[in-house]
Amino acid sequence: MALIVQKYGGTSVGSLERIQNVAKKVSKFVDEGHQVVVVLSAMSGETNRLTEMAKTMQARPSKREMDMLLTTGEQVTISLLSMALQEKGYGAISYTGWQIPIQTDEVHTKARIDSINADKIHDQLNQGKVVVVAGFQGVTANGDISTLGRGGSDTTAVALAAALKADECQIYTDVDGVYTTDPRVVPEARRLDTITFDEMLEMASLGAKVLQIRSVEFASKYKVPLRVLSSLTEGGGTLITSEDNNMEKPLISGIAFNRDESKLQIRGVPDKPGIAFALLGPIADANIEIDMIIQNQGQDGTTDFTFTVPRGDRAHAHEILEGIAQVLGAREVIFDDSIAKVSLVGVGMRSHVGIASRMFKVLADQNINIQMIATTEIKISVVIKESELESAVKSLHQQFELDKV
Ligand code: ASP
Ligand code: MG
Repeated sequence: MALIVQKYGGTSVGSLERIQNVAKKVSKFVDEGHQVVVVLSAMSGETNRLTEMAKTMQARPSKREMDMLLTTGEQVTISLLSMALQEKGYGAISYTGWQIPIQTDEVHTKARIDSINADKIHDQLNQGKVVVVAGFQGVTANGDISTLGRGGSDTTAVALAAALKADECQIYTDVDGVYTTDPRVVPEARRLDTITFDEMLEMASLGAKVLQIRSVEFASKYKVPLRVLSSLTEGGGTLITSEDNNMEKPLISGIAFNRDESKLQIRGVPDKPGIAFALLGPIADANIEIDMIIQNQGQDGTTDFTFTVPRGDRAHAHEILEGIAQVLGAREVIFDDSIAKVSLVGVGMRSHVGIASRMFKVLADQNINIQMIATTEIKISVVIKESELESAVKSLHQQFELDKV
């Protein structure tokens, strides 16, 4: 007998029929003798619909009221699933976040979980019931309802699994696992049976948007085995775990990419101590996240600085840089919105030299120019022209034989 936490996302509970289908899936695990806690999202599209309603009432909706509103979506699905299970003859009970309680901080619309009291859930499980918990929500110390940020149900599931010391946390979604890269770009992309937390974090933050990143960080911290699988098809999905020592890891596990960044460059900056801080401090103060950074050593006492920011923040970052450029006496500021970032990810590359040069050769053979390079122990990223992204990903996938087991 195992204790399993299962989370079903918006598309998996997108209609009454789908909710009944979830009941069927859950009941199979109960029949096998497992204890099951289910975490649900709102029906797909519901959170967006509620958000639009809020904007009709108030140009900048009050965050406290926003949380009150958005958490209703999950209240609908949990009660319906509980009914569907009862109708099939299974004991089931649903709880909102505050009933558990899932205690969070006070930061409405993106709260963090402080603690979870698992007693009530254990009690109900021991009475043979399926416990159905609303994802994405909690309660502040003041007793106000809070939410964990978009996609937060993943984090609810992992946090519950940690608090309950569950054997596994299963995230059911509309894809059947984590792939070597986006199958829409490379049809030969392969589902991975396992991936490490560190790799998943790189894949997720780089655009393989299967899981809320915070849920992966949480799972990694508390060592909760996390499995991503489809609610619509059978199959083992992808298991995300700590790095196992008994396995010969492939050099490269996957290729992540994103088209959501822009490149900014400030040229001809007087080269002296404090320049990096003078440039990047104000950008950080404006809450703009900087990803890759490159500084060149100039030869005439000046230097160039190049970095990437989310494309939506580019205009703002540009404006800030123009101001700084004037103060520092820099030559010019330029930007480029038509870039893309491609990254090879794999814990196996840690112990191997030559991965980077192999990657650069593949790109050279495709006549693709590399604009920026950054590396970590388990990742090599390059910035290239957006129009060359697909051919870069395809040829890297092939050359590193990611289509083969
Ligand atoms: N319903 C929330 C959202 O759409 C939370 C979730 O689905 O994880 O973001
Ligand atoms: Mg989601």
